[in-house]
Amino acid sequence: MSADAPIVIIGTGLSGYSLAREIRKQDKDSAVMMITADDGFSYSKPMLSTGFTKGKEADELAQASSGGMVEQLGIELRTHTTITGIDVDAHELHIGEERLVYSSLVLAWGADLIRLTIPGEGHEHVFSINDLMDYRAFRKALAGRKRVAIMGAGLIGCEFANDLRNGDYEVDVIAPSDTVMPGLLPPEAANAVMDGLTEIGVNFHLETVVERIEKRGEGVRLTLSDGNIVNSDIVISAVGLRPRTDLAKASGLKVNRGIEVNRALETSAKDIYALGDCAEVDGHVLLYVLPLMACARALAKTLLGERTEVSYGTMPVMIKTPCCPTVVCPPPNDAKGEWKVERTGNSVKALFVGEGGETLGFAVTGDFAIEKQALSKEVPPIHR
Ligand SMILES: Cc1cc2nc3c(=O)[nH]c(=O)nc-3n(C[C@H](O)[C@H](O)[C@H](O)COP(=O)(O)OP(=O)(O)OC[C@H]3O[C@@H](n4cnc5c(N)ncnc54)[C@H](O)[C@@H]3O)c2cc1C
Repeated sequence: MSADAPIVIIGTGLSGYSLAREIRKQDKDSAVMMITADDGFSYSKPMLSTGFTKGKEADELAQASSGGMVEQLGIELRTHTTITGIDVDAHELHIGEERLVYSSLVLAWGADLIRLTIPGEGHEHVFSINDLMDYRAFRKALAGRKRVAIMGAGLIGCEFANDLRNGDYEVDVIAPSDTVMPGLLPPEAANAVMDGLTEIGVNFHLETVVERIEKRGEGVRLTLSDGNIVNSDIVISAVGLRPRTDLAKASGLKVNRGIEVNRALETSAKDIYALGDCAEVDGHVLLYVLPLMACARALAKTLLGERTEVSYGTMPVMIKTPCCPTVVCPPPNDAKGEWKVERTGNSVKALFVGEGGETLGFAVTGDFAIEKQALSKEVPPIHR
C-alpha cells in the first residue's frame, strides 16, 4: 500500500457525504476520494417522498451537483463509476480492469431495492424509487397522468400515497398485510394512519398481492390475488430494501443482514469500514438518517487517528404522512412488555411498557405527535 493513498469513500448518499463533511470539519488536508455509481448530486433522500407536498420538482430537491460537492468538500470525486471488487490484502479496489489503492476504505453504498418478479408485460410502467435519479424518471413518467398504484404499505409506500394525494393523483395501495407499516407500528397507530390516508382519498387493497401487470392502452391493468382489478397509469414498487452485501461477501468480509461492523464501524477486514444502509452496526440494521449521522461523526474521528465508537441514542422515526403526523420509536426486538394505548379519533398514544413499568418504546399519531420529544427522553438509548 502506498503511504499517500487516499481515504476512499464509496457512495455519495447521505452516509458518504455526511462522513466527508465530518472529516473536513476536523481536517482540511487529508486526501479523500469519493466514488459513486450515480451522478454524485447531493440531496436529502427523505425529501423524495415530499415532492408534491412541498411543491418541488425532482431537480429542486437536489442541494448541489457533483462539481459543487468537489468544491465544498475539497475532495476528488468519480461519478458513474461502479466498484466491482475489493482486494482486502493488497488494499486495492477494482473498477473493472482498473486497480485503485486506498489507505482506508469506507463502504457507504446503501441498500438494494427488493424487486418482485410478477408476470405480465407492463413492467415499463413500474418504478422503484431509492435515489434522485429514480425520482427524476418517475416524475417524468408521471407528467400528464392521473392514477398511481403503490405496491407496499410500509413507511415509503404510505409516504408516497400521502404525497401523491397532495398532488391530486388517484392512489391505490396494494399490500399483503392487514394494515399499514405492520413491522413498525403497533396496530392502533397503524390503523390511525390508514384511516387518515383513507380520509384523504387513498384506496387500500390489503391482504392481497399483485399477480399480473398487463399493458392497457397508455397504462396498466393489475390483477390482484383476491380477483380484483386495479387500473392505473403508473405503479410504484415499494416492497422493501435490503442492505447491499453481495460485493462485500465476495471480497471476504463478514456479512449477516448487513455488512457486519462493530461500534467503531470496523468490518472484519483491516482498514475497511462501513456505515449507512449497507451496514449492520453492532447487530443493528437501521435504514434511517439519525443512525448514519451518528456513525459519520464517530467514523470521521477514527479515520483521522482517534478510534471512536458510535453511541446510538434513542432513534425516533418521523413518518411523513401529514394527513396523520406520526412518530415511532420501536422497542428493542427482545423487549418484554406490552403496548398500552390511548386513542381519540386518529390521535393515538401507544407506549410500550416493560415489565418493570419503564417506557421502552412509543408510537404517537395525530395530536399526540407533539409529545415526541418528551417521550424520546423517557425511552432508554439503544447503547446504554
Ligand atoms: C423515499 C424515502 C424516504 C425516506 N424517508 C426517511 C425519513 O423520513 N427519515 C429517515 O430517517 N430515513 C428516511 N429514509 C431512509 C434514508 O433516506 C436512508 O437511510 C439514507 O438516505 C441512506 O443513505 P446511504 O448513504 O446509506 O445510502 P444511499 O443513499 O442509497 O447511497 C448509496 C450510494 O452508494 C453508491 N453505490 C452503490 N453501489 C455502488 C458501487 N458498487 N460502486 C460505487 N458506488 C455505489 C450509490 O450510487 C449511492 O451514491 C427514506 C428513504 C426513502 C427511499
